[in-house]
Amino acid sequence: MTDYNYSEVEKKWRKKWEEDKVFEAKEQQEGEKYYCLVMLPYPSGNLHMGHVRNYGIGDVFARFHKMKGKNVLHPIGWDAFGLPAENAAIKNKIHPAKWTKQNIIRMREQLKVLGISYDWSREFATCNPEYYRWNQWFFIKMWERGLVFRKRANVNWCPSCNTVLANEQVSNGLCWRCDSRTEHRDLEQWFIKITDYADELLEKHKQLSGWPEQVLSMQKDWIGKSFGAEIEFALTGTGEKLKIFTTRPDTLFGATFVVVAPEHKIIGEIKPRIMNYNEVAEYVAESGRKSNIERASCKEKTGIRLEGVNAINPVNGKEIPIFTADYVLTGYGTGAIMAVPAHDQRDWEFAKKYNIPIVEVIRGNDSCGITQSVDENAYEDEGVLVNSGQFNGIKSIEAFGVISEWIEKQGFGKKTINFKLKDWLISRRRYWGTPIPMVHCKICGTVPVPEKDLPVMLPEDVEFTGEGESPLKSSEAFVNVKCPKCGMDAERETDTMDTFVDSSWYYARYCDARNSNMAFDAVKANYWMPVDQYVGGIEHACMHLIYSRFWHKVMRDLGIVKHDEPFINLLTQGMVTLGGRVMSKSKGNIVSPDEIIGKYGADTARLFVLFASPPQKQLDWSMEGVEGCWRFINRIWRLFDVVHKKSDIPASEKNKNDILKIMHQTIKKVTIDIEKEFQFNTAISSIMEFVNALYAYKYHSNDGGASVEAYKTVVLLMSPFTPHICEEIWEMLGYRGYISTYPWPAFDESMMKQSSIEIPVQINGKLRGKIMISAGTDEDEIKKIIETNEKIAPQLKDKKIEKFIYVKDKIITISVK
Ligand SMILES: [Zn+2]
Ligand SMILES: [Zn+2]
Repeated sequence: MTDYNYSEVEKKWRKKWEEDKVFEAKEQQEGEKYYCLVMLPYPSGNLHMGHVRNYGIGDVFARFHKMKGKNVLHPIGWDAFGLPAENAAIKNKIHPAKWTKQNIIRMREQLKVLGISYDWSREFATCNPEYYRWNQWFFIKMWERGLVFRKRANVNWCPSCNTVLANEQVSNGLCWRCDSRTEHRDLEQWFIKITDYADELLEKHKQLSGWPEQVLSMQKDWIGKSFGAEIEFALTGTGEKLKIFTTRPDTLFGATFVVVAPEHKIIGEIKPRIMNYNEVAEYVAESGRKSNIERASCKEKTGIRLEGVNAINPVNGKEIPIFTADYVLTGYGTGAIMAVPAHDQRDWEFAKKYNIPIVEVIRGNDSCGITQSVDENAYEDEGVLVNSGQFNGIKSIEAFGVISEWIEKQGFGKKTINFKLKDWLISRRRYWGTPIPMVHCKICGTVPVPEKDLPVMLPEDVEFTGEGESPLKSSEAFVNVKCPKCGMDAERETDTMDTFVDSSWYYARYCDARNSNMAFDAVKANYWMPVDQYVGGIEHACMHLIYSRFWHKVMRDLGIVKHDEPFINLLTQGMVTLGGRVMSKSKGNIVSPDEIIGKYGADTARLFVLFASPPQKQLDWSMEGVEGCWRFINRIWRLFDVVHKKSDIPASEKNKNDILKIMHQTIKKVTIDIEKEFQFNTAISSIMEFVNALYAYKYHSNDGGASVEAYKTVVLLMSPFTPHICEEIWEMLGYRGYISTYPWPAFDESMMKQSSIEIPVQINGKLRGKIMISAGTDEDEIKKIIETNEKIAPQLKDKKIEKFIYVKDKIITISVK
């Protein structure tokens, strides 16, 4: 037998799969549908190991379920809009469309080499008008339903680049491109009202039992539903009201200061009365240069008191100081909070730093029954109210409701529900995205482009300078348009959509990717949807996986999909690291898939990423690990060399039963590990043990078909992991058709229990020998074995058996005369 030529074998099978359209999905096929989806790749130009892992995992699911007889849809495409293309355009003077197309061509080649079972006939790129046309269509549908609106909003602005920056493009208050200090500006922006679905996004978590708990809790936190109260605090002097939001109305008597966000309008309104206004203004400007993430995550809380004005706690009339501090964000609640240092650690630290009184209003006992003091730390648990006037003695959990109601009755506040989730700001002053299909008319206002005029195509005559408000403004042919309503001169909207729009519904487009009359056919989408298994990185837990869940509900409300949720099961794969650190270009610790595949073949690369670590865990790259996988691939190859050296020596009953037992155990283990446990690594190691057992057993032509069965099974079990070599061996073994479409082996529990045991044979009270039987063998069978046993049979010859006692699986006692 020749050495394994992976390069030839892998090429051969990929070509055959493609020619015979083995993985093209059709709605009309037999079997239960199974939709396997991996997260849409961004065509950066290079496939990295993270991709190989993500797509390798997806392929195991797709191939396994196909062999299980399901009708599998396993598509792939490109999340092709986005900033890197535009930055390349600015830097290298290459058009974003050209840059993107080149990258897709290169990555498609790299991806094809992996031999993933994609249905390539459904491939699309989101930057094509055939796709983004439907982004525009959905946008208009949402506009019609009141789910799209425009308002002024605060954005990051780089004064030297003269451009809007995304939050991720501001670090330490500096522009990522030129390092100058960024500012905040108010600009007209487009929003999608995702908050209309905030409650349902939380509530439908109930349907997502197939999601990691961690992702659900991240989403819960992101949506951030909290019950609380809005309470009005009067200001000294004028009696103006400052509305604060609190999630702890039960601690109202302990509020000893209030904090407003630096952007809060009250600062401007009471400016003449703020004695230290210049210092305050300086603090406000400083915090304006930080991003919200920086503000919220900063350990040391800073702030400044507004000297000269106090707030009045409505419950006890006490005057308390007002601070502005940037840990309070303007987008949350009312942008102003009451601070209760005795019962909130953040407020406690702030109070200690600025010497503000700490008033205990909840007294609790720790687990040992010791009363907690608020001198050392804030006490954040439950207890009984103290220092709270008529509410003293009430339990704090009851006080929440009691005090909220009292506040409402007194007329200085009300109960509220607050969400951290904000409406989705989807407009970008960028070129490489979907044009927002709106027209601004002086007479009619904002008018949507009529459906028949879609898509609004991205113009090509655009300059990429990286400066100014929006590149689309530079194309006169694009901007100047007649108003669709009145026919007068009007201007097109020049903002483009956030690229998260593209990935919010692409999974539905795959169900009917070539439809040019609608986004997709509802019947086809309802056949394939929802996605049975989604695979991607945990970094998408909040944005993508919330936006797409929202979009799906809008599509449901439009009547084009029928399910509430798009993804039934989610697997979040771990990162690929090298020496414990995430592989990244900037750290220079990249291992290129091309290099590994070139040296060992795609099956080895796939085997390594699947074997080295469970899918959800981090995977540390190791060349020894790769070489180990390469050796195993060769071990499998050589195993089938044995087939040709058939042994005519009969296999012993014990050996035969043992190999069948291992076989059934391995089938069971691999099946459950793929289907239920997502433990591909342990599935593979059990196959490795099975291979060891086969080497020991050899191949027997006269073992009642056990060899045929066992050798066939080992290739079948390996084929979702290393499909190329398995197809080749399958063909060598003489099977017709593809192993990729052959039924997955079934396991038999009774065969697993079956094991060979040795039992003693006593004749007339004396041990005369031992025989090998399968456990559970019945008496008739035992008698036959005895009659042919070369050691026992002669001892019984010509004798009369008076008694034959068989204690099952234990002992045979025979009396003869
Ligand atoms: Zn800049
Ligand atoms: Zn008009």
